[in-house]
Amino acid sequence: MIQTFQVKTTKQTEFINITHSVEEAIQKTGMKEGICIIFTPHTTAAITINENVDPSVPKDIIMELSKIVPFEDRYQHTEGNSPAHIKASIIGCSQTVFVETGKLVLGTWQGIFFCEFDGPRSRKIYVKVIPDGG
Ligand code: ZN
Repeated sequence: MIQTFQVKTTKQTEFINITHSVEEAIQKTGMKEGICIIFTPHTTAAITINENVDPSVPKDIIMELSKIVPFEDRYQHTEGNSPAHIKASIIGCSQTVFVETGKLVLGTWQGIFFCEFDGPRSRKIYVKVIPDGG
C-alpha cells in the first residue's frame, strides 16, 4: 500500500523539510524493517536529502541551481516554467532510505526535503515501504 500526504508550498521556489511527515507515513504502514521510497508525482518538483539544521544550506542550493538554470533564457516550452522542469530533473523525483525499527536510517544532519520549483501549489508525496525479506 502506498501512503500519500500533501504539502502546500507558499513560494515560487522553496525546500520544505518533510522528514517528520515521511516518518508518520511509515508508522501508518506498521512496517519496521525495509526500504522506503519517497516519490513525488510532479514534473516541476523534486525530493532531495541534505542538511536539515542550517536553513542556509537549502537557500544556497536554490541560489546556485538558479545560476545553472536561469529563469530567463530562450526556452521553447510555452508554459513558461522550463526552469522548474529542468531543476526537477536535475534533483530527481524520488529518494530511497532504509527503515530500521520503524525509523528512517538517516545521518545526524540529514533531512528529507520536498523541493518546489514552480509554486505556490498543493503537492503530493507518495511513501512506500518495501519490507525486508531477509
Ligand atoms: Zn511546464
